[in-house]
Amino acid sequence: MIRAKASDWWRTTPVSDGITLIDEPHIQPFYRCNCWHIRGGDEDLLVDSGMGVVSLREWVPLVTERPLLAVASHTHFDHIGCHHEFPHRAVHRAEAHLLAAPSRKAVLADPYVTDGIFNSLPPEPYESAAYEVTPAPATRLLEDGDILAAGPRRFEVIHTPGHSPGGIALWEAATGVLISGDIVYDGPLIEDTYHSDMGDYIRSMERLLHLPVRIVHGGHFPSFPGARLREIIEDWLGRRAGG
Ligand SMILES: [Zn+2]
Ligand SMILES: [Zn+2]
Repeated sequence: MIRAKASDWWRTTPVSDGITLIDEPHIQPFYRCNCWHIRGGDEDLLVDSGMGVVSLREWVPLVTERPLLAVASHTHFDHIGCHHEFPHRAVHRAEAHLLAAPSRKAVLADPYVTDGIFNSLPPEPYESAAYEVTPAPATRLLEDGDILAAGPRRFEVIHTPGHSPGGIALWEAATGVLISGDIVYDGPLIEDTYHSDMGDYIRSMERLLHLPVRIVHGGHFPSFPGARLREIIEDWLGRRAGG
């Protein structure tokens, strides 16, 4: 398989509300994490940081323009690979140990990371068999109800366990923006990892169903409006009730 150039690895796409999508187009869509950069006042937020196979700080100037808090929606490998590049890092308390010690099994690199997840391989000397996430101990631990400030903006931390125990969504009531991580996006949802929990998943979905969401920026796949969120959750809950 051909290798991509480091300079081509990252892609940035402004969306709306001062939010920019940063992603890795050489990774296949199902494994390609959406990283969300939120423009604040004097401090910005970055939710998730990709696989860590090419430096985010080196190639994406947007993330070095001002002080930034690197938040982990959860600690699967595709979301936390570049967290170690940022001095300020936040994660939910229930996954702090995984950000600090991201063994291949603990962050699902084993079994998911193979050459098959790429459209083009990362630059030399990358090797899938040797891939590891660099430890990035958190400097701030998050709990449900905490507020993350980005200048004048306020994002409430909503603990959304189910896909993983320390999953969080960020909710900006003033704009109706929900940054949801992997608990819900418009694609196949993952409910069967070693630390997934179906009871938690159902409770998290019921909670998100009742938020007055305008737009969802998920952990994978394209963003979608609040009406689609409610449709996805109602379908998902209906299948659980029926089956
Ligand atoms: Zn995940
Ligand atoms: Zn993911």
